Amino acid sequence: MAGLIRREDIDLVRERARIDEVVGEHVTLKSAGVGSMKGLCPFHDERTPSFHVRPQLGRWHCFGCSEGGDVFSFLQKINHVSFMEAVEFLAGKYGVQLRYEGGDRPRRGPDQSQRRRLLEAHRIAEEFYRAYLMLPEAEEARKFLKGRHFGKEDVEKFGVGASPAGWDGLTRHLRSKSFTDDEIIAAGLAIRGQRGPYDRFRDRVMWPIRDVTGATVGFGARRLGEDPNAPKYLNTPETPIYHKSQVLYGIDLAKKDISRQRRVIVVEGYTDVMAAHAAGETTAVATCGTAFGKEHTQLMRRLLGDVESASAGVMLADGRARGGEVIFTFDGDEAGKAAARRAYVEDQAFAAQTFVAVDPHGKDPCDLRVEGGDEALQKLIASRVPLFEFVLRSVLLSLNLDTAEGRVQGLRAAAPILAGIKDRALQTEYARQVAGWLGLEPREVERAMYQSARTQPRQQAQHSDSSESRRESAEVVEPQGPPLQRLLPDSRGGHSTERLTIAATLQRPLDVVGAGLEGLTPAAFADSRNQAMFAELVRRGGLDAFLDQLQRAEGEVGVGEAAVGVATQRWGADLVDGASPQVAEDLTALMVMSLPVEEDDLREYAQGLVRSLVRRDLEQQGRILQARLARLDSSSPESTETLEQLWAVERRRRAYMSMEE
Ligand SMILES: [Zn+2]
Repeated sequence: MAGLIRREDIDLVRERARIDEVVGEHVTLKSAGVGSMKGLCPFHDERTPSFHVRPQLGRWHCFGCSEGGDVFSFLQKINHVSFMEAVEFLAGKYGVQLRYEGGDRPRRGPDQSQRRRLLEAHRIAEEFYRAYLMLPEAEEARKFLKGRHFGKEDVEKFGVGASPAGWDGLTRHLRSKSFTDDEIIAAGLAIRGQRGPYDRFRDRVMWPIRDVTGATVGFGARRLGEDPNAPKYLNTPETPIYHKSQVLYGIDLAKKDISRQRRVIVVEGYTDVMAAHAAGETTAVATCGTAFGKEHTQLMRRLLGDVESASAGVMLADGRARGGEVIFTFDGDEAGKAAARRAYVEDQAFAAQTFVAVDPHGKDPCDLRVEGGDEALQKLIASRVPLFEFVLRSVLLSLNLDTAEGRVQGLRAAAPILAGIKDRALQTEYARQVAGWLGLEPREVERAMYQSARTQPRQQAQHSDSSESRRESAEVVEPQGPPLQRLLPDSRGGHSTERLTIAATLQRPLDVVGAGLEGLTPAAFADSRNQAMFAELVRRGGLDAFLDQLQRAEGEVGVGEAAVGVATQRWGADLVDGASPQVAEDLTALMVMSLPVEEDDLREYAQGLVRSLVRRDLEQQGRILQARLARLDSSSPESTETLEQLWAVERRRRAYMSMEE
């Protein structure tokens, strides 16, 4: 039949084409026994590879979705092209000269070769823009690139060009290459105007956006002139060959290193991708005018290889996460929120492999490199933190965790985030970390986490498709249910100890002397009313005030029990008189409260109470300081200062314990 490719030529292409190479452009394959390779299926969503390729037979088959075939059918399916286009593409790639039945290449059918025509239009457009960049008129564009420290090689590697300021330069050029107006418009390169089509991209720096095979399928463009009506960034609209939810800028160049290094860096802009590659971070890609979504995730997963979810997120000795890592750089103040969204939008196996790298001054990778060279950008990437840790940190760091209120708020904010982590091992690990930052016991944090999971059934973890509800579910919301105050360790059954300690102090001040009461801070008391009483006691001179009274009483009635009784009474009366009504009432109640021991044991009892409180206070102070230390940059002066304080507390604790023994 006329126009068909000769049978023997098709067979020759099939023989020469290396199926593992062709498939390998889209899927990272690894050995699966003799003569077999496997990877994640590009035709259905999966976590463990069931997509097999047998290079020697030239066949592929997926045991998950039962799709399969030869190298041509693979290309047809993955690129949505016809059989003939697949053959022609591979003939070009492997150097086979095709002959057609009846002599001629067939005239193109309406849809069959539209893809090829649109790709060709893009190839010519790219050439056109690149040539224009070299013209004197494109000086602004060259200045733009030079100002961002991009040299000739960077510009050529990425095929960067510029579009002229006129209305139809490219359109006329494409027409001269026998493209119809309909084709130029369908390619997204021109817009249909009242007086015919005009160029979509005018007076802009042009970045060709390529698919994994390196074919240009669209453009990203940045405004050069000051026209306020023109958007700063403009991308190709959806076309038969360009789908923004699937393309990643830089993927053609990054692909090999992504599968080799098992790492991908997701930056936000075209210049960031260029800067990253220029700085040696050759796995950088960016989305084009859209957020990193589900289809991008699937593409990444195919390139990174399979995820063993049990070990995902586990750092290996070299600092890499097993199962590959995905590093997001977010810039600006919204980084925390952006990361939080990621944490919930992502499916969990992927989130566990996800890291966040944010410059503390909110600079993007391109700016960082301009100001600090390649090293500054490399440092940014090296500073990456696991996604969940980043989200938890950004929530907690806005609070003052040195106060009890701040820690309650912190626990309240962290609990739903922890509850949203599906991987149990990871969840436990993060609960432990949060406990460390908050200075709490891990089981307290876990309790709050389970409570949050109960009171907010799946709201965090389950995300609907609407981006708005994603956004909402990503915000940290206050969990309902009983007040979390109760979950703080200090408050757990500790109030009676606190009250008894104050009662013993008020009733038997002389017995308490020497137990270390003067070392306590009001923060040692979890209950606010106990705290107020203790603060009043300190304000009125503490036990020193009692000893003063005792000296006076001894002068009056002589040394002995009577003097102690008089002094205790006067000291207590002074305290109550000077206090606010509430504190006065509480103090009075404790003065008359009966202590649960015999007279003879009172001294030992009172000392024991004070000591346990002092010990608890020192431990608590230590935990808070440790938590603060963990949050601080270890090179900062605050860090050094905190460390000093921590040592001081530790020394006191040791001294205290040895004194007790
Ligand atoms: Zn499949």
